[in-house]
Amino acid sequence: MSRYWSRTIRNITPYVPGEQPKDRKYIKLNTNENPYPPSPRALEAIRNACGETLRLYPDPVGDELRQTIAEYCGLSGKNVFLGNGSDELLAFSFSAFFEPAGKPILFADVTYSFYTVYAAFFNVDYRLIPVDQALNVPEDGYSRDNGGIIIANPNAPTGRGFSLETIEAILKRNENSVVIVDEAYVDFGGQSSVPLVPDYPNLLVIKTLSKSHSLAGLRVGYALAHDDLIEGLTRVKDSFNSYTVDRLALAGAREAIRDETYFQETRSKIIQTRERVSARLMEMGFTVIPSQANFIFTASNRCHGSVLFQRLREQNILVRYFDNPKTDAFIRVTIGTDEEMDHFLEVIETITGA
Ligand code: PMP
Repeated sequence: MSRYWSRTIRNITPYVPGEQPKDRKYIKLNTNENPYPPSPRALEAIRNACGETLRLYPDPVGDELRQTIAEYCGLSGKNVFLGNGSDELLAFSFSAFFEPAGKPILFADVTYSFYTVYAAFFNVDYRLIPVDQALNVPEDGYSRDNGGIIIANPNAPTGRGFSLETIEAILKRNENSVVIVDEAYVDFGGQSSVPLVPDYPNLLVIKTLSKSHSLAGLRVGYALAHDDLIEGLTRVKDSFNSYTVDRLALAGAREAIRDETYFQETRSKIIQTRERVSARLMEMGFTVIPSQANFIFTASNRCHGSVLFQRLREQNILVRYFDNPKTDAFIRVTIGTDEEMDHFLEVIETITGA
């Protein structure tokens, strides 16, 4: 605490990112990174962009990348907004679409923990929708009056997803609010709301290249919506930092999206590994929430989540544990390579004696 801090910074509890340890070598199953390298074509594009032109600022709106994304999604470039990772897009959206000290926005009580941090930072009031015993978000939770809605679909850390019909029903019921659908994990088996964008002026879909395109280190995300929402985001960006996506990121992201074959190969490998690991854990008596993401949320009937987390850490395996009454029985395990997951399963067997 410093006397020089503003009131906002004094009062906020910042988001705590998963560890990126440097002390020893861990199997990192804690931050939902992709275990496979980025597309070789993307890496080459980044190397090619690494030259004399770096003395120039990047295109502030990233038109070439927007166009590539628009073609990929069947939309127009003016429906695409780029960000320095989807976290930045979420932050800009809170500022652009949610009223400080206005009607509360709605999101689940078990979801991405950055939402409460942004709410505090932007002074946006919120109501939590309680998930049920099985960690499902009840759809009718989004029926009350609100100043906006944010849904992680699939949800984190549970991996459970809403169908397109459910999202559409929520959009119809909330014409006066912006509904943000955070699709960070959708490529691993969820149903994307992108096809709804043309028909729903209150929909903002946020996607990232961090997970399904193995580019967490490049920091590129994008938002898709009607042009007036895109313009709202642009107004925030140009009141904050006009150059949020650098030249290397613009080049790498473009090629990663164009390399559809590599994307399909790596994401199906992860889905297959996830299904295999989930089945094995269930055989061992674990509860496994059916996942549409690149992680699983799982609990042992013999070992509390905090104990599992700690024992795995001692064996150089990092997973994530959320110390909250609804989630503390569980650990969240990012899907790694087959070899990493085989090792994880062996260690789990010894820890739990299963
Ligand atoms: N949304 C959700 C639900 C996430 O889990 C994450 C990753 N922590 C993000 C958004 C942000 O990802 P990035 O900023 O790397 O795009």
